[in-house]
Amino acid sequence: MQTFMDDDAGYERWLAGHPDLFVVNAERTPRPSYLVLHRATCRTIGGTPARGARWTADYIKVCGSRVDLEAFAREVGGAARACGLCAP
Ligand SMILES: [Zn+2]
Repeated sequence: MQTFMDDDAGYERWLAGHPDLFVVNAERTPRPSYLVLHRATCRTIGGTPARGARWTADYIKVCGSRVDLEAFAREVGGAARACGLCAP
């Protein structure tokens, strides 16, 4: 499992190398109320971010296998909510 904060280049490299894995979008200090699980291929967490936005600044990306990310969410004290678009 790898966490990207203020490292968009590293995050984009990870996405390109792990299209079969998963990403949790979380606040910089992760809270159980906002943990969203995506497939690494989801267009809402990759590609060109909306104008002026960065992928790993306001939110961080925790990347890895689904099992690892579910364990991460439990450590934070909650459960990851599945993205409605990529339906992981
Ligand atoms: Zn998604």
